[in-house]
Amino acid sequence: MNRATVALRLAVGLSLISAVLVCRAAPLSPPDAPQARTHKALLIGVDGLQYEKLQQAIEHHMAPHLARLNLAKSYVGGVDGTSTEQTTGSGPGWTTILTGSWVDRHHVPSNNDDWRNQAPSVFKLLKLAAPHRKTASIVSWNTINHNFADDIANGYIDLAIDCSDVDPCVADKTVNELEHGQSDLVFAHFDETDAVGHKDGFSPRYQQAIQSVDEHVGQLLSALKRRQKNHPLEDWLVIVTPDHGRRLPDGHDHGKQTLSEKTTFIALNKPGNAQLTAPIAHPGNPAHNGLYGYASQADITPTLLAHLGALPPAAGYSMDGLPLIGPVGVRQLTARKVPGQASMKLTWRTGRPSGTPVQIYRNGQLIAKLQDYQHTYVDTGPLALKGPINYTVVMHKVPVSRLITPAD
Ligand SMILES: [Zn+2]
Repeated sequence: MNRATVALRLAVGLSLISAVLVCRAAPLSPPDAPQARTHKALLIGVDGLQYEKLQQAIEHHMAPHLARLNLAKSYVGGVDGTSTEQTTGSGPGWTTILTGSWVDRHHVPSNNDDWRNQAPSVFKLLKLAAPHRKTASIVSWNTINHNFADDIANGYIDLAIDCSDVDPCVADKTVNELEHGQSDLVFAHFDETDAVGHKDGFSPRYQQAIQSVDEHVGQLLSALKRRQKNHPLEDWLVIVTPDHGRRLPDGHDHGKQTLSEKTTFIALNKPGNAQLTAPIAHPGNPAHNGLYGYASQADITPTLLAHLGALPPAAGYSMDGLPLIGPVGVRQLTARKVPGQASMKLTWRTGRPSGTPVQIYRNGQLIAKLQDYQHTYVDTGPLALKGPINYTVVMHKVPVSRLITPAD
């Protein structure tokens, strides 16, 4: 082979490679095919907004913006009497909402600026799945951003704003970020409903605070509408939720495990799946008038991540909640030590069985493959394990986890 032939072959080879590269870079679909939509999410926190009082405000046309969302009952405070039980306070509540985990994972037991969340947050999980995506946390009650100080220091929260109890500041900063920013996930927290609740209880001023936060929700939704004119391919999920209810009869307090303090709501701008819209009628734990058959505040982060396409893989999954949109995984997952034995019993519920595969992971290792006809599994393997065991059960590619300590 002479030099000219070698050069020619090299040139042909290179042009073939570059042709392949060009082909890979060019769109594979016809030019008029729809472009991929960008999924983004806005989580609006309304501190201490009582579900019943909101329903009354909606009936009296005093909360028109919240009235337009798909609103369903939910619970907070974990399951009392188990390792997930946490106070119906704001520190533990917001930490669950922003991690999909109860206190046995996040370890924020009360309201204190010094606690630091110990579970992977929605901000961190989004960044681990897609480092280029942007996040913002704009809060009226600064303790929330203090609890997530590690996420701010590590760059998992790009924009952190403390508004120091001034809700109009939260509205202004969030409107600005939604209209002009590049965030993929925005958390906005309003506090007036809780502050007024503590001061005046259920009162005309509390009703005014509900109207006021509804107006702020309206401002944020209008900002999104304006944004979508310039960004028609963005698909925004909006979720509104409080961190806790309020104690009867007067609504001044919260923190305990009463029905009124544990009952909350989750509102979406999209249709929810069965986990949100079809509560389990007779949950295994019948306490609080069957409240545990409903969705919980631990479902918020999995819902945000499902919409953002950033749910962690099953082997690395450690969240207690289920996505409230899209396919439904197994529901009502429990993990208990079998009395007198060194084994663990898992139970769960599914819809009508159809032979759908169900996988079980123990601390990230696949240990069983079942079908949805089965609703229990006894793990005799953890004898030698010390420390907490994280079980994950997967159906329809949707994982859900429970943490259990063998010594419990
Ligand atoms: Zn409070």
